[in-house]
Amino acid sequence: MGRETSTMDDLTALSPMELLESLQTFGFLAPYSLALYCEIRGLICPERQRFNLFGPCGQSPLCDDQCRPHHENALTQTINRNQPNVFRCKSGLLNFIVPFKLGRAPTCCLLGGGIRAADFNLAATDHPSLPRKLNELGLAEAIEQLPVRTEDELLEVARQTAQLLTELRPESLLGLAFEKTMTRFNAIVAMLPAFDRASSSEDVWHLVGETLTVLFDLPRAGVILTGAREPRPALRCLGQWLENPVPLSDEQISLLLGAGNQRRFYLEDEDSLKTLPQVKGDLVHCLSLMAADQSRGTLAIFDADLAPRDLLLIELLAGRAAMRLTRLEQEREQQLEAGISAQIIQMISDLSLLDRREVLFQRILDLSAELLCASKGSLMVLDEDGENLYIAAGRGMNPELARNMKVRVGHGIAGRVVSNGHPLLVNDIEKDDRIRSTNRPRFRTKSFISIPLKVQGEIFAVLNLSDKESQACFDDTDLRMLCSFAPHFSALIERTASLERAAAMEELSITDPLTSLYNRRFLERRLEEEISRSLRQNLSLTLVMLDLDNFKHYNDLCGHLAGDKALKRTARILRHSAREMDIVTRFGGEEFCILLPGTSKKESLLVAERIRHAIEKESYLREQDLPSGKLTASMGIASFPGDGNTPRTLINAADIALYRAKSEGRNRSVLFDLSLRADQASSA
Ligand code: GH3
Ligand code: MG
Ligand code: MG
Repeated sequence: MGRETSTMDDLTALSPMELLESLQTFGFLAPYSLALYCEIRGLICPERQRFNLFGPCGQSPLCDDQCRPHHENALTQTINRNQPNVFRCKSGLLNFIVPFKLGRAPTCCLLGGGIRAADFNLAATDHPSLPRKLNELGLAEAIEQLPVRTEDELLEVARQTAQLLTELRPESLLGLAFEKTMTRFNAIVAMLPAFDRASSSEDVWHLVGETLTVLFDLPRAGVILTGAREPRPALRCLGQWLENPVPLSDEQISLLLGAGNQRRFYLEDEDSLKTLPQVKGDLVHCLSLMAADQSRGTLAIFDADLAPRDLLLIELLAGRAAMRLTRLEQEREQQLEAGISAQIIQMISDLSLLDRREVLFQRILDLSAELLCASKGSLMVLDEDGENLYIAAGRGMNPELARNMKVRVGHGIAGRVVSNGHPLLVNDIEKDDRIRSTNRPRFRTKSFISIPLKVQGEIFAVLNLSDKESQACFDDTDLRMLCSFAPHFSALIERTASLERAAAMEELSITDPLTSLYNRRFLERRLEEEISRSLRQNLSLTLVMLDLDNFKHYNDLCGHLAGDKALKRTARILRHSAREMDIVTRFGGEEFCILLPGTSKKESLLVAERIRHAIEKESYLREQDLPSGKLTASMGIASFPGDGNTPRTLINAADIALYRAKSEGRNRSVLFDLSLRADQASSA
């Protein structure tokens, strides 16, 4: 890397720029633009002076190649004579040069310029290109306004300056510098609370840029941020000198980020930095952005010669910026986590609404895959014997294939998770000593996660996730997150299983075991519901009650078993004759009821007759032994609301009609009417 210190630093611990600034504070030098010449560094002048047309000769953009030898001559003459010198440059502007020595340094010169003689005459200048330049730049008027001095006056200033420079001891210069440092330090301390208030990284960097520009007059500073969240390091400018971040080459990155304690080097020695836009070719200072012992990147300051004290101040600023940045990042992460937690709570509460296990399995798998950004996965459940796992839900796999895949406990990955009971996080299936199997072609990556799901300590399922969308490996955070959800998943599955069991029990309690039709309890409940619905919607509702004729006889003749079979067969006929919305029940013994919502009494007579004929046509076992030669049924029909408006009155009306069918000779359908009730009352 380049030279580490300049001659001026050796001498006074002041940077050349600080020396110039200190000299400028003396009243008699205040009107002049100053520059410093030293043999090693050449001409040095403040950044703003580079763009000042009227700087000391040789620095002004008005000078060109033709006039350069002219000033160099003046400079050499001054050094040789070792006396203050005043000269008029080709442009006709006045300059002074004062040679001086400080400590062990070779001769240095202070150059002063940016003034004109009273008789300055544009037309008379022997600088051929000057009038044109001045016209082009429109600055003739500005030249007129430059401070006016005679050569004698300037010579006097040069003598005073020479005197000052001989008397000026490094200590007094340092005193001046110290004052300046304290001013800057106080200004930085006053700025620190603003850093703590910055609400975004842009705000932080804006503050750093502003402070550097205002306090240190830095022309070009930038940051190169590193860290897991940063894309490829790029130079982001602080201030206005670059519009967009500049991507850095590997060489530039390692040079700037790897600078470490070597915080200062010369651009001219580093070819790779010359390609940075607008960086002119002087010094680069690199400061590590440290927060909590971790580097967040580097602050790079170009084209400025900074004293170590100033670097310390800037380091203070950079450290505070890095701290705020870290804090902002932590806050953002916390917010993100809080957001994720809220999202997860919502998802889990949505899951708790599901009452079917297959749906729940799929949602649990999908939720887990989304949380871990996995594109494939499966939820495998142990079968009843606890010997095999089958795929209860799959993601990113063919459902047909999934349905037919089985894994034996103790075998394969999921099978092993069941047998040893531990979650498994694998980076590379082919290299992991616990697995060491070839990656199957249907997986894009070799990393996966498998965790057991347990209820009361017993494993009942395994959740597998693979192929992260980013193609990265799963990590400990993924495993922790999944494991923290596992108990919730298990609880939800267990809850749904018990809901399913309860539903099954309920089903049992309303089902007739012989015919699998609903039973009387169910009919009475549904009748209640259907009556109020029919009332609300102004619909009719009919109840058909059916009783097998002389069934006692059939039982006696053919045996109880044949009787049971005949009941089952009748149930099948009823089920097939009914529409989806109709409710077919075994009312008791050899009696059945069919509830027909939205059907009038007349329409239901057709239904009843169709069923009666179907029973009549059915060949029941040994029915020919019956006196009638056929097993038949009688039907009683009653409708809501005319024949009854409660379950009890409606059933009663259908029963009365059925009784009439029996008494009229059986194998027939009878519609209820009020006269039947009167008849029954009189016969009772
Ligand atoms: P009716 O034409 O008047 O209805 O005469 P019935 O013989 O059918 O009437 P009853 O009510 O006297 O007899 C019903 C018979 O149904 C009594 C019983 O033997 C038979 N039964 C009732 N439940 C079952 C059953 O679950 N299995 C069998 N095999 N028979 C049953
Ligand atoms: Mg009966
Ligand atoms: Mg009967």
